[in-house]
Amino acid sequence: MGLLTKGSPLTWKETVPYVDYIKKHGIAQFINLYHRLRNRQGDQLRWGDEIEYTLVKFDHENKKVTVACRAEEMLNKLQAEEQVNAILGTTNCCLWRPEFGSYMIEGTPGTPYGGLLACFNIVEANMKNRRQVIKKLLKRNEAVMSISFPALGTLGFISPSIKADPNDEDAANSLFFPLDAVFTGHPRFKNLSKNIKSRRGSKVAINVPIYKDKNTKSPYVEDFSGYGARPEDVVDAKPDHIYMDHMGFGMGCCCLQVTFQAVNVDEARWLYDQLTPITPILLALSAATPIFRGKLSNVDSRWDIISASTDDRTPEERGLEPLKDSKWLIDKSRYDSTDCYIYPCSTTYNDIPLQYDEQLYQQLIEGQIDEHLAKHIAHMFIRDPLQVFRERIEQDDEKSTEHFETIQSSNWMNMRFKPPPPDAPEIGWRVEFRPTEVQLTDFENAAYCCFVVLLTRMIISFRLSYLMPISMVTENMKRAQQKDAVLNQKFLFRKGLAACQSAPENLKASGDCHSDGMSTSDIEEMTINEIINGKGDEFPGLISLIRQFLDSADVDVDTRCTIAQYLNFISKRATGEINTLAHWMRDFVGNHPDYKHDSEVNDTIIYDLMVKMNAISNGEEHCTKLLGCYRSKTEHSISSAVRKAEEHMIFQSQKRGH
Ligand code: ADP
Ligand code: MG
Ligand code: MG
Repeated sequence: MGLLTKGSPLTWKETVPYVDYIKKHGIAQFINLYHRLRNRQGDQLRWGDEIEYTLVKFDHENKKVTVACRAEEMLNKLQAEEQVNAILGTTNCCLWRPEFGSYMIEGTPGTPYGGLLACFNIVEANMKNRRQVIKKLLKRNEAVMSISFPALGTLGFISPSIKADPNDEDAANSLFFPLDAVFTGHPRFKNLSKNIKSRRGSKVAINVPIYKDKNTKSPYVEDFSGYGARPEDVVDAKPDHIYMDHMGFGMGCCCLQVTFQAVNVDEARWLYDQLTPITPILLALSAATPIFRGKLSNVDSRWDIISASTDDRTPEERGLEPLKDSKWLIDKSRYDSTDCYIYPCSTTYNDIPLQYDEQLYQQLIEGQIDEHLAKHIAHMFIRDPLQVFRERIEQDDEKSTEHFETIQSSNWMNMRFKPPPPDAPEIGWRVEFRPTEVQLTDFENAAYCCFVVLLTRMIISFRLSYLMPISMVTENMKRAQQKDAVLNQKFLFRKGLAACQSAPENLKASGDCHSDGMSTSDIEEMTINEIINGKGDEFPGLISLIRQFLDSADVDVDTRCTIAQYLNFISKRATGEINTLAHWMRDFVGNHPDYKHDSEVNDTIIYDLMVKMNAISNGEEHCTKLLGCYRSKTEHSISSAVRKAEEHMIFQSQKRGH
């Protein structure tokens, strides 16, 4: 969701004179925050998911499905309820926030989950509950679906129906994406899209390779006159690609994110690094986005589309013109994979040259931030602030972190290192895992979230290291998005098991840093199946490591059963026995009588696809190909007997440990 400050937003032109000022103060705010909270210790594991939902509307008579632009109206009701509960001291089952699209809504659990293993048994029930809460606000023929809508930007894709107007500056002059599809209840989203366009100097250009089916035109060149395009509007459209021109094509897709709290800042930095090489694996394993603007693409995931949809780099920064006014040539968009590890002992694997402003870096060093964290922050600060409010330029750097957050929260990377907020004493250092594609059902979303959190527990418990040169993570992110990456791609991954010699517990002083002694021969190309389920004697596989961790922990029977269902499901997705949603959607389209094998997924096919997917997500139909067979034992709350038993066991094992 990002930072939602209130005030009068500045245009890009109005922001320019303040850019250096905001960066300098953003850095000062980070330094103050860091020193205030760096010694914070002993925070427990807490964690929570964020699911983004799409509101859709079915027109059964005309076999047409659109996105329903009613998020603001629904959020007003949901947030009013939240406030009443806060006053009454009643806990909220879930919390609701706006997202980029006026047809999107983001839901999180009402309070984060705790460290008890029994919490894994209440995640899915909470997600189900969340869906029920929204469903109560739906009108006839509307539905809420945790998907990225495959027909964004087609003619008449929103309801109420309105056509995009390339002359509309507020809609960043898109041919396809009207302002009505952008959430305007807060200026953030409209403003970001306008400012991205202004800073870049042109509309964003998203070109996704088209899937070449047997009847697809070759070269595939589209006629955009039906969208009212003048030739100058489509100069960026590439042949053999699906062309899109607005931030909404990316940020209007839905994601699944997990945030977890670490014991202290060191553990947060270490986990950030250890999870970074896992991000492409989860991206491939969760692939759910094969159709863009009603056309089959040659990729299965939204990642590069969001990346291009937020690419505010100037032509000089993109290397199209020699550097004159811009400071650097920048390889990636501000939405992309991270360029550096941040825990001191991991930094030998940082093999991507980092650009940063020497002055800001010096400011961090003089502010007693260590070299590695300073480089991470300074590198994020090569991006300019895109969201500045006139009333909030002057700030107290001891108290506020808004200037820091405005840049941090618009560096959309696969991982995010989140410092504690200045005004919430209960929240510690956290890390966010961001690549996963949202899944159709609550069962799947719960399975992916629990899998990621269990990975963190397993990695911490066994002190395992998954580090590899960070450029290889960038490479793996590319492979992860390819069509059927789970079945066809290999990923650079560490074979064998390496224990991290320098995990936070063992780190006595920052000088006491051991590299884990890896050489490049320890990296092998492995399939997702090998990474998840193991490769002979060489690598046991992530699932069997998680199972070993669970064997050493005391888990109640129902939770263990639910987790077993999640792990079986993930394991089968990795073998290909169960389809990814992307694969399943391609099969559905391929077998539809209306499909002409020309890559075009017309309104009727989209309608039938959405009807089917809605029935599956509501549990009205079961789809074994997509979900396998499962019976999770998820519960709405942890019974007091289980809670007491688990707390007692934790207490006993802590006593034994001393
Ligand atoms: P973002 O900035 O990514 O939108 P938020 O901070 O709003 O994220 O919340 C993301 C998730 O973090 C939510 O699921 C929420 O439940 C969870 N969360 C809230 N407090 C904590 C905490 N102390 N530790 C870990 N997760 C938390
Ligand atoms: Mg979000
Ligand atoms: Mg988030």
